[in-house]
Amino acid sequence: MNGRFFQTADMGVFLDELPGLYIHIPFCICKCNYCGFYSVTDRSLIPGYLKALRREMDFYGGWAASFDTLYIGGGTPSALPAAELEKLIGDISGFFTISRDAEITVEVNPADIDAGLLTALCRAGVNRINIGVQSFNDDSLSLLGRRHTALQAIIAIHRARDAGFGNIGLDLIYGLPFSPAGGECSREADRNFVKWLSTLDTAIGLNPDHLSCYQLTLEDGTPLAEQCRRGEIILTDESRQADYFLKTSQIMEESGYHHYEVSNFARPGRESRHNRKYWNHVPYLGLGPAAHSFSGRERRWNRRTVNAYIGDLASGQTPVESTEILSDEQLHLETLFLGFRTRRGVCLNTFNIRYGRDLLTEKRDVLKRLSEEGLVEICNGYLRPTRAGMAVADSLALI
Ligand code: SF4
Repeated sequence: MNGRFFQTADMGVFLDELPGLYIHIPFCICKCNYCGFYSVTDRSLIPGYLKALRREMDFYGGWAASFDTLYIGGGTPSALPAAELEKLIGDISGFFTISRDAEITVEVNPADIDAGLLTALCRAGVNRINIGVQSFNDDSLSLLGRRHTALQAIIAIHRARDAGFGNIGLDLIYGLPFSPAGGECSREADRNFVKWLSTLDTAIGLNPDHLSCYQLTLEDGTPLAEQCRRGEIILTDESRQADYFLKTSQIMEESGYHHYEVSNFARPGRESRHNRKYWNHVPYLGLGPAAHSFSGRERRWNRRTVNAYIGDLASGQTPVESTEILSDEQLHLETLFLGFRTRRGVCLNTFNIRYGRDLLTEKRDVLKRLSEEGLVEICNGYLRPTRAGMAVADSLALI
């Protein structure tokens, strides 16, 4: 196996920025009702998985560039025994160079946060934890099939702070479906909206450093999608979804959080350094089943199932399922697509250097129209979406 992935020529304008390292933990204690991600609940696979993961690290280790962010996500990383998680994080620096000031994030479920886990994460050098709260309303948590209550989440956040974590992120979900049996639809939709505002208010009151607010999308085959198909619940309509987005953005910014990406808000200086690499098209290496990597030119992704991943590595094969080399055209479209999701936007000069295209000249008419509609603006050499533009970020990339 040849582990060479980051080529200097591919990294192009990103040579001055270190890549990020992502490790996927594909285990969950139980499946949530909305989850379309790949994860398994059979934890007897954990020992074999961790062995395979170390083989994959060995495959890429040695030659790889230094990383200045490490993100352990899932699935549910905190579904691993705390001692295994601590050992894994310790072992990573035996395979790769992780810079001294690296941002090291672990995703955790509120139900798993106890003294043992927090001590293990502190000892391992984790300096940022991201807690999957999703809602501070118990009815909503029950609808989503989460295995924790609102009170457990609040206690978990306090415990994390008391343990010394100074950089805490929370994940929330808005736009939940509601039951038409509860009364008139618009009244139920209004109630749902009020529940969301209350969750947001509770979250802000807990003073997290970072908040991710995702709009719920129903993935085919999930219990919630099935309930929706049977007419037992109704999904929030599009105009209401726009209300959620715009109101959330307004409340968060008034509360001192910068709306720096479509779904993400941060206190000053607390933006996720790791996720910013994805949006800024900076190279990253992803390890574990279904993990994606990007070299600046090549994208590759791993086999999706735990068993296939373990099997490949056990037989000395790379677990890469497929790769694609991106053309300049694909790269520049991705740059627009990702850039318009961020408040910073697309750097016109970098775009010009990298793709030899002057967006302002080429797209003068369409940009003039979007600007008149209040969707984009130019600020300090960046073409960026306004708040209203972020609400339709994906369509802006089609300019
Ligand atoms: S914890 Fe996350 S990955 Fe696991 S089932 Fe729930 S939503 Fe899916």
